Amino acid sequence: MNGETSLTIGIDLGGTNVEIGVVDRTGGVLRRASIATEAAQGVDHVIHRLVDAIDGLLREHGLSKRDIQAVGFGAAGPLSHTKGMIYSAPNLPGWKNVPLRQQFADAIGLPVVLENDANAAAFGEFIAGAGKDARSIVMLTLGTGIGGGIVLDGELLRGDLENAAEIGHMIVELEGRACPCGQRGCLERYASASAVAERLVEAVQAGDASSLSERIQAGDSITSKDVARAAAVGDVSATRIWDEACRYLAVAVINVQHMVNPEMVILGGGLSGAGDALLTPLRAHFERLKWSAASDFPRIELAALGADAGIIGAAALARSA
Ligand SMILES: [Zn+2]
Repeated sequence: MNGETSLTIGIDLGGTNVEIGVVDRTGGVLRRASIATEAAQGVDHVIHRLVDAIDGLLREHGLSKRDIQAVGFGAAGPLSHTKGMIYSAPNLPGWKNVPLRQQFADAIGLPVVLENDANAAAFGEFIAGAGKDARSIVMLTLGTGIGGGIVLDGELLRGDLENAAEIGHMIVELEGRACPCGQRGCLERYASASAVAERLVEAVQAGDASSLSERIQAGDSITSKDVARAAAVGDVSATRIWDEACRYLAVAVINVQHMVNPEMVILGGGLSGAGDALLTPLRAHFERLKWSAASDFPRIELAALGADAGIIGAAALARSA
């Protein structure tokens, strides 16, 4: 390359692996690498390995740091984009009040941006994925919990203390299931991938019949995929729990619609792998429950970028910062 700086690097800092991508202006991932995080060995260790990995990735492809405009990180929070600080991250043991932006900028010699990973994924889908033709989108990442990201009129919505879009902790059931966040009835206690599995285990333990009973009683761990599969072949308990998850998601989509009136609500994360088995009942509940006072309904669609959304979004945010 010729020293032009149209490229940025996007990093998705996960608890197990770090995904690194060299991303162009359109959100295309030109080069990628994946390394084990080894977070328990400390921040300096991780930074050192990341700098090495990036150097290697650039060198292998005839690039140098001069070809790179900036680096964007997506990481689990709570964190501050403004301060560039990870306060604590459940998947990065021992990381407390880490000034990652400054430390990484010093180590790599490039401008660095830090963003919540759910925000980064939402921005990725907005730039180059399911939302690329929309101006306002809301993304829900249905995984261990439920991450949220809101892009409104082209801008990521962060909020006063940068805790906007914590849609997983939107209360959808008054006095409902307890959440580690301290509230009760949070969306993610009903409709995250882990909650769907957990609720089936609880139902079986309380005496409900299910084709998964034997596995559950033998102590096997059950995933949301198992629940989806059982529901698909008519398992009554699995069908009930799956359908309830879709109903709670429909309530959340309606609440989000009234809050920010997005063009699209995009569903990503593990549970979205169920595809139409998720979309069809969710859309049906949405149609049944929605208001009739206006026709400001978002399209509800699946995410398009999979695991790449995080690196593409982080890279795009690095460019715009
Ligand atoms: Zn909660």
